[in-house]
Amino acid sequence: MQFLHELGIEKLQSGNSTGSVFIPGKGRELISSSPVDGTVIGSVTEADESTYETIIAQAQSAFLQWRNWPAPRRGEIVRQIGDALRAHKDQLGRLVSYEMGKSLQEGWGEVQEMIDICDFAVGLSRQLYGLTMHSERPTHRMYEQWHPLGIVGIISAFNFPVAVWSWNSALAWVCGNVTIWKPSEKTPLCSVAVQKIVATVFEKNGVPEGVNCLVQGGREVGERISHDTRIPLVSATGSTRMGKELAAAVGARLGKTILELGGNNAVIISQHADLSMALIGCVFGAVGTAGQRCTSTRRLIIHESVYEQFKNKLISAYQQIKIGDPLDAANHVGPLIDRQAVEQYLSAIEQCKASGGKFIVEGKVLEGTGYESGCYVQPCVAEVTPDMPIVQHETFAPILYIMKYRELEEAIAIQNAVPQGLSSAIITLHLREAETFLGVNGSDCGIANVNIGTSGAEIGGAFGGEKETGGGRESGSDSWKAYMRRQTNTINWGSQLPLAQGIQFSLGDE
Ligand code: NAD
Repeated sequence: MQFLHELGIEKLQSGNSTGSVFIPGKGRELISSSPVDGTVIGSVTEADESTYETIIAQAQSAFLQWRNWPAPRRGEIVRQIGDALRAHKDQLGRLVSYEMGKSLQEGWGEVQEMIDICDFAVGLSRQLYGLTMHSERPTHRMYEQWHPLGIVGIISAFNFPVAVWSWNSALAWVCGNVTIWKPSEKTPLCSVAVQKIVATVFEKNGVPEGVNCLVQGGREVGERISHDTRIPLVSATGSTRMGKELAAAVGARLGKTILELGGNNAVIISQHADLSMALIGCVFGAVGTAGQRCTSTRRLIIHESVYEQFKNKLISAYQQIKIGDPLDAANHVGPLIDRQAVEQYLSAIEQCKASGGKFIVEGKVLEGTGYESGCYVQPCVAEVTPDMPIVQHETFAPILYIMKYRELEEAIAIQNAVPQGLSSAIITLHLREAETFLGVNGSDCGIANVNIGTSGAEIGGAFGGEKETGGGRESGSDSWKAYMRRQTNTINWGSQLPLAQGIQFSLGDE
């Protein structure tokens, strides 16, 4: 495959790096095979303890230099990374698609998201604003300023093998931090390709070795990061199970976290909806990335008066979905990440049936030519009631649950009655319904949309969710503040020393 060659992906490589230097790992080999066709693409070595220690030491020393680079100069480096990504968008998008299994359109989209966040971070590098306040004391001035934290740990999930890293690192770098990335053990080669692209920019500009570090490994390496007091902030994306363990470990040492965890996203389809528009948004949300987005649409809460009509539209739309090689533009849906994910899909279908769910589009594992990897499944739709245990759970697969409602308040209550709180949407042309959904009595999610689906966020907004989704925010708006420490400064430029709150304190004759 030409794109592997162009990205410098070899059969076996270290994958542990301090920037430009790759350190031959001594740990176990992590093999990456494509869910598209089962081919072993390559492998990396896991970072053993001594490799990890070498990398952390380099990151610590790089931070001492990097934090002194003016923020706009750091932004200039990120601008060049955006350009390098533009130049490699096609190849990197193909690798994302081949190693992870998402459609090529979505693979390219993921790289575009990296480019977008670089652009955002360039502007941000001149806007790391603090406030000034009026002091209660005469001849005093108060203001706040923001300083970098140090090493930012980034732990990412398989489903966004490159974009999530860029959301974190582009911001972390302009803020003056250095980063250490532990990608998912299921998609290590994407991280190696990104590392190589960034290394060319860093080398050209004399960026200190250690600003952009990469360590390979599974849960154990993630746990090493979560317990490491030299890493003041850990930004972790993955399952709620992982987030609870990681939050406990980082919290025990009073470190900071940004948690981006599971979702269980719903769309309310009102009797005032444009049903054609609803259909596109809901089907893309449910089957895009084979249901493996944190923002995938998992539940449709449909008004009883349009329920049968919309159900029939869904059935005919699902008949048109083409499943196959995601690198072929004719296909809408690629494979699940691995056979374990296929087992989880089958188990969820069984649980749904056992609790009374009725499938209107049946699920199954696809077999035959083109499906040899065993990871391709039929996206399916089940009629359920909202209280079924499986409906409360995030299954990372293309299973869509549909249910009825009568009153908007009831629909909102159903939407909110799950442990997760990432993304939500209402499809309605009725202004009062839309505003009720967005208002204080409406959706309890971090993301609430009107007349679009639950997936496909733009980088300009803060991204993240509430409850078991973890409460973190990444990407746009003022998310950068999580990557810095705030310092409040009070300066007395007068000749007296008045105390705050009017407290009197004197030392006799002095
Ligand atoms: P996962 O939890 O299995 O793994 C995620 C990452 O955490 C991996 O790098 C893994 O090695 C690491 N890890 C696992 N256990 C750990 C521990 N105890 N301590 C430290 N690190 C640990 O998740 P996954 O299967 O790769 O991804 C799917 C999940 O990610 C879904 O739940 C999805 O909703 C979630 N996700 C959330 C967002 C978001 O922004 N909210 C984005 C993408 C994915």
